[in-house]
Amino acid sequence: MRKTFRYRIYPTQETERKLFWTLTRCRELYNAALSERKDAYKYAGKSVTYYDQQNDLPEIKAEIRQEYQDIAAHVLQDVLRRLDRAFQHFFRRCKNGEHPGFPRFQGRNRYDSFTYPDGAGWKFEGQYLHLTKIGKAKVKLHRPIEGQIKTVTIKREVDEWYATFSCEMEEPPKLPVSYEDIGIDLGVTHLAMLSNGEMIEHPRYYRKAQKVLEQRQQALSRKKRGSHRRDKARKLVALAHRKIVRQRRDFQHKAAKKLVERYQLIVFEDIQTSHLTGKPKPKQDEHGNYLPNGASAKGGLNKSMLDAGWGTFVQLCSVKAAWAGRTLIKVDPKFTSQVCSGCGHIRKKDLSERWHTCECGCELDRDLNAAINILERGRRQLRAISVEAPCL
Ligand SMILES: [Zn+2]
Repeated sequence: MRKTFRYRIYPTQETERKLFWTLTRCRELYNAALSERKDAYKYAGKSVTYYDQQNDLPEIKAEIRQEYQDIAAHVLQDVLRRLDRAFQHFFRRCKNGEHPGFPRFQGRNRYDSFTYPDGAGWKFEGQYLHLTKIGKAKVKLHRPIEGQIKTVTIKREVDEWYATFSCEMEEPPKLPVSYEDIGIDLGVTHLAMLSNGEMIEHPRYYRKAQKVLEQRQQALSRKKRGSHRRDKARKLVALAHRKIVRQRRDFQHKAAKKLVERYQLIVFEDIQTSHLTGKPKPKQDEHGNYLPNGASAKGGLNKSMLDAGWGTFVQLCSVKAAWAGRTLIKVDPKFTSQVCSGCGHIRKKDLSERWHTCECGCELDRDLNAAINILERGRRQLRAISVEAPCL
């Protein structure tokens, strides 16, 4: 099994210069490869594959851009693979009937990492990470690294650098079996409502951090393009953003750990589908700006922030569940808040109705009703799987 370890690294000045240089070359390669794919399709109706592009790399290095010889070959291949994944993701979503954005050209502020996909081009010795033709960086090992390192990713976060090691590990002993199951309704006013009536609230500092972010974004929008002050304002926005990402990561790790320790079966809504069906569609005005639709205003939290929050939270839970020998299931979110958890009849309600009332005598909070339905769906799905494959 894979586990990742992330550490801050402190490159020397010379190393940092070359890290930036490498990032720029990788970004250029990414954009050139994207442009090649676009043009081939537009002018010749041909699709270019990852292997086509990988096979061109030696020639590019030998004749057109010799400076690429200074970058580990597998790092460059990984750049092309990233692009390939972006395309696969795009096509998969198209096939699902969604309307994803086409893979984008990457600007200086967006493309912020590169990866060594295997053991070539780097060495980790003592406290130092040595990168061939780049230099060395001191690693702050705030916790010991375990397992065998398989890949290394170097990432810039505003003005700091990080190394993420993906390590192959022995499977840890499973947690003792729990007899409690849980269904989870992800929400706007709280992060989650559990089927046993407990709640996971958004951390309080979240809202404060978001206010700072909004203020700084407004300040940025008032600065003149290309000005020195604009650069400064952009950095402040990036710092506020980084703080939110870190707070969220930390909070979600803790919340996910608690869930996995306590429950044997954990059932979530399948978020991707819920975007299309369950939640209100974002409204746009004639300039393409988003108008409030009532859903996010309620919690006072930015919609995009919630979206990012839900996805990563479920992802984290799923990784931790796999390690601990727990079962995590995602179910179709259709009508989870409309169906009565007591008798199964559909009781239509709009978003503003926060209470579920049914003729069968069922009376409870709307989100709790949904969470109970989600758990029930998960159990049904699990039974269906075990009937189909009795030897598992
Ligand atoms: Zn009922």
